[in-house]
Amino acid sequence: MNVHQMRPSPISPTFDLAARGVNHGFLKLPYSRDDSAWGSVMIPITVVRNGEGPTALLTGGNHGDEYEGPVALFDLARSLTAEDVTGTVIIVPAMNYPAFLAGTRTSPIDRGNMNRSFPGAPDGTVTQKIADYFQRHLLPMADIVLDFHSGGRTLDFLPYCAAHRLADKEQERKSFELVEAFGAPYSMAMLEIDAVGMYDTAAEDMGKVFVTTELGGGGSSTARTAGIARRGVRNVLARAGILKGETGASTTAWLDMPDDDCFSFAEDGGLIEFVKDLGDDLRKGETIALVYPVGRTGVAPSEIRARMDGVLAARHFPGLVKPGDCVSVLAVRR
Ligand code: CA
Repeated sequence: MNVHQMRPSPISPTFDLAARGVNHGFLKLPYSRDDSAWGSVMIPITVVRNGEGPTALLTGGNHGDEYEGPVALFDLARSLTAEDVTGTVIIVPAMNYPAFLAGTRTSPIDRGNMNRSFPGAPDGTVTQKIADYFQRHLLPMADIVLDFHSGGRTLDFLPYCAAHRLADKEQERKSFELVEAFGAPYSMAMLEIDAVGMYDTAAEDMGKVFVTTELGGGGSSTARTAGIARRGVRNVLARAGILKGETGASTTAWLDMPDDDCFSFAEDGGLIEFVKDLGDDLRKGETIALVYPVGRTGVAPSEIRARMDGVLAARHFPGLVKPGDCVSVLAVRR
């Protein structure tokens, strides 16, 4: 650890995070700006602590335009009682709070993408300061970590809970056990396009049992996906022994992202027409989408084709596409 990282965090909780019972408050981050010279970013946090048991760290709003996590976690934070809990539940419904308030993936303050900002820096941008606080204060307290994601404004997903394949097979086994317990319609062994700077990687490198989700997208939530999130978080806490009660037998369908062939990217910009929907099965070489050039009429569309056999697990959401956009993700049914 270098001298830089040893600086204390400028973030202070407004209550003692080690206190027993149910406590609601804020992670207070000083942020001097035009409309508030000595102002702060106030990130809502709830800690429910009772008896001896494991600690779960639950986060939503890592990306500010993904809503199933915040819906489930604002609800959980107001409804959990101390008697419900054996151990500790730390709830941060909107991790990148400035991005969440703006309804954007990244922070309007510094354009910081929380999930590319780890390990963060105590003397960095606002987003880096939040990442650093999670890296050095909240993650070390946790035994299990659940970080909710969805597709945001630009992607849409089959609803799944996920974990990564890990070098430590015992850590991997525990992570996939929690994925199964979450009980989403789908469960994924997930591959990342680029894992550098991710919260996932930070948690996994610390040896934590880390699970995440992709529960829909398009910049909103639905009754179905919000319900999956609400039930899933309680199932995970029950499996960890923190909440009383049993998780029902999971009927989740397991999916794998075996290698980079699962991703397809646009090489041309234009108007996109998907000819397959989420959940549809494709053969290698089959057309997933057509991209119409929109500069003139009379030009044939280019085709985005499946690079492997699989089920359509994620797709570009907006009706227009740019070169380089991720158009689709295929996964293999187990
Ligand atoms: Ca996300």
